[in-house]
Amino acid sequence: MAIEVEVREMTDSRIRILVKGVNHIFMNMLRRVIMADVPKMAIHNVDFHHGPLGSSMEGDEEVEYESTSPIFDEMIAHRLAMIPIPTDLEIFLPRSECTCEGEGCPSCTIMYAINKRGPCTVYSGDLEPVNNEAYRIKDDLIPITKLGKGQALLAYATAELGAGRQHAKWQAAQAVGFQYYPKITIKKKGSENYEDCVRACPRGVLEWDNKKRAIKVVDLEACNLCKACMETCDKGVIEIGYDETSFLFSFETDSSYTPQAVIKAAIEILSKRFNSFIKAVGNLS
Ligand SMILES: [Zn+2]
Repeated sequence: MAIEVEVREMTDSRIRILVKGVNHIFMNMLRRVIMADVPKMAIHNVDFHHGPLGSSMEGDEEVEYESTSPIFDEMIAHRLAMIPIPTDLEIFLPRSECTCEGEGCPSCTIMYAINKRGPCTVYSGDLEPVNNEAYRIKDDLIPITKLGKGQALLAYATAELGAGRQHAKWQAAQAVGFQYYPKITIKKKGSENYEDCVRACPRGVLEWDNKKRAIKVVDLEACNLCKACMETCDKGVIEIGYDETSFLFSFETDSSYTPQAVIKAAIEILSKRFNSFIKAVGNLS
């Protein structure tokens, strides 16, 4: 059976698609690979400068700066790690598999510098990519820390590839989920309590047509199979079922990737895995 895909919603960071001709095992495999295995860049090392940073004139006053902030360096490092770093899988390799043998080079790491003096708020957009402007952080208003008068933050941060199974900072997509495609059958027409079953639906799937004295389905794909309508109505008026081979699948990215790139990367991982399995089976004597 051929697999068909219809796009229901697609933005730079969100996707909702209808997938036909698969089963729940296939959908779950795709979901888990997207969450745990699709690699992404994230900051993994931060070098903080410690000590005095000289002085400068602020109006008539000379202010001495010191590398210090109201929160611990460990917390700043953790916050930096969670910032979405633009990722291009055509360019980057895992550091351990790179020709530089883990030393760090433009094929496996992105280096950022951060140099701010208080009083101010340090944001994700203050991370300056060293050497390549293409890796500037898209989501530039994530607050990292505040700095008071005389406080400063000077640090170098290195991003590298990792996967969601190692740490959440490397997770390429969030809220990855799917549900069976709903099938709603309205079996009987007209009775006094049918307006109640329309109201019982928390997602506005049904409407009461007063002229025809009947329930009609106005937003089938909003149905999450909760069966609240079935339980409120007289028995046998509405039947909620589902198609075992069609699924509504959705997830969000943190802007490191487009949703299409995540699906493509997940399928490539699965394809590699199955190919190595075929090879392994072929090698059995
Ligand atoms: Zn390298």
